[in-house]
Amino acid sequence: MSVLKVNNLSKNFGGIKAVTEVSLNIEKGEIIGLIGPNGAGKTTLFNLLTGIYTPTSGEIIYDLDKKAYTKDLKPHKITHYGIARTFQNIRLFQNMTVLDNVLMGFHSGLKYSIVSTFFRLPSYYKTEKSTYDEALELLIKFNLLDKKNELAKNLSYGDQRRLEIARALAAKPKILLLDEPAAGMNPKETKELNFLIQWIRETFDLTIILIEHDMSLVMNICERIFVFDYGHLVASGTPLEIQRNERVIKAYLGEE
Ligand code: ATP
Repeated sequence: MSVLKVNNLSKNFGGIKAVTEVSLNIEKGEIIGLIGPNGAGKTTLFNLLTGIYTPTSGEIIYDLDKKAYTKDLKPHKITHYGIARTFQNIRLFQNMTVLDNVLMGFHSGLKYSIVSTFFRLPSYYKTEKSTYDEALELLIKFNLLDKKNELAKNLSYGDQRRLEIARALAAKPKILLLDEPAAGMNPKETKELNFLIQWIRETFDLTIILIEHDMSLVMNICERIFVFDYGHLVASGTPLEIQRNERVIKAYLGEE
């Protein structure tokens, strides 16, 4: 069953063609990898999928509750449709506690990010007991419970990345977009992330799309991989197919 279709999607920034005529189809429950050199358009695609950017042309259709989304939904509406994401540069509420960060996730909608950047909201703010318990459960699952009262900024890099994923899951998404989740992680943390992503998919019954430069992580956990180069989708297939694709080797894998 398809959960996301992208048809002839393009995004230009003035003369820069960041994404050009991209079409793809993602099935429920898949773990999808987006790879390609720096500047290939991967993050721009995430920004289009989450409504941060408006497409120059083309369309995005989510088929989650049979509600189609095309051009003009705001990011917080997209969150309500069941799309959550993390960012390449971690965007936690650095001066809030670990627990408060997850609680903010339950209130989903990026508009809260803006509010909380300026006003520190305490954890009891409009938080029902069940939400509080669910937040604690997420922290247990992510091995962060003993750090629940620490400020996000004092966590290790790997813990911050995992907290960002936990917060995204609090919004109860159906599709989770992870932008370079292994960036800055050490090999041990990356290995744990490998298991964590697969565990998340099984436990939360999710479709996961990740942008990642760590090829062993991508090849290990993704069922299908889409390869981008200069804004174009240049190849797609299973990890084995991608590893054997001449064009991909030349444009990207060969550089490794
Ligand atoms: P990386 O792996 O380095 O994150 P990427 O594949 O995610 O790269 P994008 O960040 O999507 O690539 O960038 C694609 C192109 O679009 C680049 O040339 C970039 O400079 C340009 N671009 C992205 N966002 C903007 C913007 N807001 N304004 C102007 N140009 C932009």
